[in-house]
Amino acid sequence: HPEYKVVMLGSGGVGKSMLTTKYMNGTFSDEYDPTIEDSYRKKCTVDDDTCVLEILDTAGQEEYAAMRDYHIRSGDCFVVVYSVADAQTLYEAEVIAKKIYAIKDVERVPIVLVGNKCDLAEREVTTREGTEMARRIHSGFYEASARDNIRVVDVFTQCVRRIKRL
Ligand code: GDP
Ligand code: MG
Repeated sequence: HPEYKVVMLGSGGVGKSMLTTKYMNGTFSDEYDPTIEDSYRKKCTVDDDTCVLEILDTAGQEEYAAMRDYHIRSGDCFVVVYSVADAQTLYEAEVIAKKIYAIKDVERVPIVLVGNKCDLAEREVTTREGTEMARRIHSGFYEASARDNIRVVDVFTQCVRRIKRL
């Protein structure tokens, strides 16, 4: 089966690790360990084709900018996560997307923008603002919740579709 590398990017605390573990094994935790950086493998079938996703959950510390650039170079697809409860993280998602385009230096890059924590009632980012950002950065878009398992699988399915569309 073909292997695709998916890189999870976004500000600290937006839910990259929880989206990853929810997708991998259905688990979610209220604990927050910002230092966890790990990669996971999962076989998945999308539109009758089976592939293996290697998902890299980054810790996104600015001190490791060189490491992040390395991850961007090696990634086939990027899940750029922000929190709908924190407007600053949407701004940072745009900065990250621009970084991806700058490093990849090609016209089309598979990116899925994810507004996580859509289970929360207290929002700072509307669905419309997320949609508009996705249009600006030429990405797919989902609002999701790792906690309540809303559209978590869809995010990774969309990654595979975007990779195959290239
Ligand atoms: P990361 O730094 O981007 O990897 O963020 P984490 O996945 O570690 O999550 C940071 C914090 O946000 C943790 O306390 C999680 O429990 C919480 N969190 C993650 N996803 C969600 C979600 O979908 N909804 C809610 N309410 N909290 C979440
Ligand atoms: Mg994390």
